[in-house]
Amino acid sequence: MITVLRIGHRPQRDKRVTTHVALVARAFGAKSVLVNSNDPKLEATINAVSENFGGDMEITTGTGVFGPIKKFEGLKVHLTMYGVPLSKFIEEYEKMDKDQDVLLIVGAEKVPRQVYEMVDHNVAVSNQPHSEIAALALILDRMTGGAWEDLELSDGKFTIIPDDRGKNVVSNAWVPTPEECIKLNEDNGVSEEVIAHQKAVAKLAKAIAFALKEKGVDIDVEVVEAGALLHDIGRAVTHGPLHAMEGAAIVDEAGVDKRVVACVLNHIGAGLEPDEARSLGLPETEFIPLTIEEKVIAHSDNLNFGKEMVRLEQVLHKCDEKQLDRAAIKIKALHEELEGLLGTSLNEFEVN
Ligand code: SAM
Repeated sequence: MITVLRIGHRPQRDKRVTTHVALVARAFGAKSVLVNSNDPKLEATINAVSENFGGDMEITTGTGVFGPIKKFEGLKVHLTMYGVPLSKFIEEYEKMDKDQDVLLIVGAEKVPRQVYEMVDHNVAVSNQPHSEIAALALILDRMTGGAWEDLELSDGKFTIIPDDRGKNVVSNAWVPTPEECIKLNEDNGVSEEVIAHQKAVAKLAKAIAFALKEKGVDIDVEVVEAGALLHDIGRAVTHGPLHAMEGAAIVDEAGVDKRVVACVLNHIGAGLEPDEARSLGLPETEFIPLTIEEKVIAHSDNLNFGKEMVRLEQVLHKCDEKQLDRAAIKIKALHEELEGLLGTSLNEFEVN
């Protein structure tokens, strides 16, 4: 196990370089990074990268300089332009026990003399002054024999598919739990009122989803619940029709499963055709709920005014008041489609 100790870190001045030291450590197989001075922002940045792209490298800041070196049990290596050549060190390292833990120390500002004396080896990656980021990458490459090429950092929200023509990133199927959905809403500044509405919609949508499942319909209840709890997250940005697009962008950016993103995007009424979308200030394209999960969420939203479940007649009356004739036709059709699948009236639907 390799640990990297970054010393001399000044949070304001070295922000970028220390971030890159930690990112190199992570990408090239280190299991832990220690930073002498306290820097919660740095910790958050690196943890966010691991959340998005996987791996479980730990970062701890505020460790001090001498403590971690003193108590480290294993091989201690300080990277410095004044040390012995890297190849010479690697020759010796090849003969050592490969299971031993290794502490790699890199500096920022002037490194105290004691550090040179406390370590087992002072190693130079050329005897010219350059960068701790480069020195660290090169020694990690040599010490691991290039094993970083096959390193799989799993459990991230995204996987990068190597592509020589551009960016190919796939979102790993992260269907947030109800708690994670509420946290996403809160983190994005969604009001309590909107969260309460989403909870009410989710309650109905989940009940309909379970009932449909019992009828043999292939429906993912977790996707329905997450989509319902997030469908109005874009209201943190705007209460206009664009909230669906804004919300979809927020949840997509957070790495949420594309099926949930589609539920957020296509929840307005019973869908919008391109000309309707344009007249509402949206791009001239279809925003139609197509999957059963999208349909259940869109209609559970139609059947909820705020936190209160209403009958179809009330929804149609509201459409009438707003002269939304086309919306009314589609909402009625969606209502009937779901009732057909459920084999029961939605107006009489019991939600516990
Ligand atoms: N002036 C500092 C000193 O007296 O140690 C060095 C500053 S240098 C920008 C920051 C760090 O980069 C060093 O502490 C060392 O860890 C690393 N570094 C720079 N050049 C290196 C080299 N040729 N070989 C190994 N490490 C190097």
